[in-house]
Amino acid sequence: MVNLGETDLPLGTGVPGVYLSPPGFERVIDLLRSGVAALAADEPFQRLVIPPVISRQTIERAGYVQAFPNLLGTVHGYGGTPSGWARLKPLVEEGGEWYAQQQIGDLVLLPAACYPVYATLADRTLDEPAKVSVEASCFRQEATSEPGRLRSFRMLELVTVATDEDCLKWRAARLEQVEGWFTELGLAVSVEVADDPFFGPGRKVYQAAQRMQELKWELRVPLADGTVQAVASANYHKEHFGETFGITAGGAPAHTSCVAFGLERLAMALINRHGKDSTRWPGDVLAALGGAR
Ligand code: ATP
Ligand code: ZN
Repeated sequence: MVNLGETDLPLGTGVPGVYLSPPGFERVIDLLRSGVAALAADEPFQRLVIPPVISRQTIERAGYVQAFPNLLGTVHGYGGTPSGWARLKPLVEEGGEWYAQQQIGDLVLLPAACYPVYATLADRTLDEPAKVSVEASCFRQEATSEPGRLRSFRMLELVTVATDEDCLKWRAARLEQVEGWFTELGLAVSVEVADDPFFGPGRKVYQAAQRMQELKWELRVPLADGTVQAVASANYHKEHFGETFGITAGGAPAHTSCVAFGLERLAMALINRHGKDSTRWPGDVLAALGGAR
């Protein structure tokens, strides 16, 4: 068998921010999944598996392009004709036929796991809160190579679509619960009001408004020596998605909240704290991950 190295840590692929996950690292990701499932067991979340692409129209409608045009990965396809085939050679020559005939398609790469949920609920009237649990491979065209800032990463989210009051109460309770969970996992957690990296000249205004209204809270923990990163966020989008997608709750546009966990970052934080062999982690940490001692 080809030896991929001693390490159980993610393996580089020759491009920044894209890694392969070996079994030891994947075991930690699985533990995190069961840990989040245990946390979420007190509510009837419907579990949906989400593909890594989403309708471009949905993402445009949701305002993602205006806010983060730089992070969005688009899916293009060759739009040439078979008669242009002779000009395809050599395929990899930049400026050649294959490059020249690329056309933007109807899909983009999914930038966050919860967007498809709102589109799926479009035009519905909810008699009771919708509770959905989703996991997806996400893509963001991130510029930096700081530890834990990947371009392809997995996000696990708990989502509530309901009235404003329900969403705010739910997010506050979950935020407190997740903070306690990270402490049980031995992670030195800080909870901070945060903003998103909006693009363009209006970004300072958007960021200030987001902070003032406390729409986003981040849970930050050490990932490596000298590096602290957000491993989860608790978000409240007000009626943005309810209005955009025509979802109604309590006689008004639905409000939405989500709690999003970055699985790779969380795995890195746990490995940094307890070592890369998860079978030897302290019993109470494994118990907090939903497993037996
Ligand atoms: P950051 O502030 O670090 O850019 P974010 O605020 O953009 O993160 P969210 O959109 O709230 O992140 O995403 C939820 C979670 O997904 C984050 O808390 C983080 O754990 C994870 N995540 C986000 N971006 C990345 C990335 N580029 N690489 C790895 N994990 C990420
Ligand atoms: Zn979300």
